Amino acid sequence: MQELTHWIGGQHVKGTSGRFADVMNPATGEVQARVPLATKAEMDAAIAAAAVAQEGWAATNPQRRARVMMAFGDLINKHMDELAELVSREHGKTLPDGRGDVQRGLEVIEVCMGAPHMLKGEYTNDGGPGIDLYSMRQPLGVVAGITPFNFPAMIPLWKMGPALSSGNAMILKPSERCPSTSLRLAELLKEAGLPDGVLQVINGDKEAVDAILDNDTVQAVGFVGSTPIAQYIYGRAATNGKRAQCFGGAKNHMVIMPDADLDKAADALVGAGFGAAGERCMAISVAVPVGEKTADALIERLIPRIEKLKVGPYTAGADVDFGPVITAQAKARIDALVETGVKQGAKLVVDGRGFSLQGYENGFFVGASLFDNVTPEMDIYREEIFGPVLSQVRAKSYDEALALVKDNPFGNGTAIFTADGDTARDFANKVNVGMVGINFPIPVPLSYHSFGGWKKSAFGDLNQYGPDAFKFYTRTKTVTQRWFSGIKEGGEFHFKQMD
Ligand code: NAD
Repeated sequence: MQELTHWIGGQHVKGTSGRFADVMNPATGEVQARVPLATKAEMDAAIAAAAVAQEGWAATNPQRRARVMMAFGDLINKHMDELAELVSREHGKTLPDGRGDVQRGLEVIEVCMGAPHMLKGEYTNDGGPGIDLYSMRQPLGVVAGITPFNFPAMIPLWKMGPALSSGNAMILKPSERCPSTSLRLAELLKEAGLPDGVLQVINGDKEAVDAILDNDTVQAVGFVGSTPIAQYIYGRAATNGKRAQCFGGAKNHMVIMPDADLDKAADALVGAGFGAAGERCMAISVAVPVGEKTADALIERLIPRIEKLKVGPYTAGADVDFGPVITAQAKARIDALVETGVKQGAKLVVDGRGFSLQGYENGFFVGASLFDNVTPEMDIYREEIFGPVLSQVRAKSYDEALALVKDNPFGNGTAIFTADGDTARDFANKVNVGMVGINFPIPVPLSYHSFGGWKKSAFGDLNQYGPDAFKFYTRTKTVTQRWFSGIKEGGEFHFKQMD
């Protein structure tokens, strides 16, 4: 049995707690490795060492730090296939999806190659007699990233890139379900020239997370995961005086107007609803067609597309549309929710229950399900299912569809499919959701914009990556200086070189 490690001081270090979590192969249901769960003492020691390393890293000029990002980007490209396989092996997603996971993280590293531009300060000349003001952005010190299982490469890269290129040291606590990609990325960062100790990958569970939250040296916490944990971490970090941004769960709706191209909408819904087995925070889990005719026509198009979906292990290659879910518990929870949907009166149009794959009977595969006539009181509407289940809620009018999205407690992503620019603009302007797609089902913004939900999908300030991330990982210091007037004699006339 492979025993994973922590990454401390630029090398693999065995855990000392004696506690481990099983890392499963979701396709076979077998344990493929075990990951150590750090104690508070291990976490505190790693944080203290990071604080020492951070001083030298912060004193390294921003352009040199950016060069580490350049080398890191090259290495990620070089090892793309290996990283994608590492993602798929522990998560279960298909290889093209594993590659997408790495790619969308790499794009944030590419932006961080230009970090010096984001770290420039502000200057006011002659704000008063002989008075100038300048503001500089300085790193925070030691910051922490706590990440979920569902994007084992992308989200750690979203955290590492901006935090490190801004001159911070980082403690990364990846998901204990998919820890290997973070450990491999740490090796590549060392190869790219990151000094030892500036990135420490500490594996663990609640004990390790609480040690981060209660450690005074940690200045900021960037969390991504489920809403209850996001809310808990935000509260405890903020109480302890830390800067915190905690991104949570989602229930993303797609509104389909009667004038939409329904074939394109159905294709988009199938990809966005069932891709990665629905285990994406930007997955569309609710389709909201406007008008009975639209709803009937949409269901008619969705059924054959969903029935055709191929479920299987990533090793089956391009033949597979989505893989297993992450654990046996996740599978049982999804099956139970589907059962509840039926009991509460929703119409199960495609039934994914009882799915079993020959040769992989112990894997955590779940068949695709489609519900019609779902109403907002039902559990399948209220809960983030995080599985391959799509619910159709019929709306009588555009206003009713918009109100449904606005009343939902989550506000991560949403989309509208329509041929009418006026409706699309109205939707984008009025909806209270952080990321909006117009004829675009999964509107994850490009890396030079930024990512963040509203309402119960995010706690704290500022978005992930893009310009917001550099604000989050630095603090502003403003200097007001006065030089008393009166030019002195003895000016020098030769062209001075910079020291
Ligand atoms: P999770 O909340 O169970 O775990 C996330 C992290 O928190 C992990 O590192 C885990 O070890 C830690 N953790 C878990 N329980 C904890 C506890 N009681 N105390 C302290 N730390 C704890 O989430 P997950 O199942 O790994 O990921 C799926 C969730 O993440 C979904 O809800 C999904 O929508 C959400 N997500 C959100 C975004 C976003 O940007 N909004 C992106 C991806 C995933």
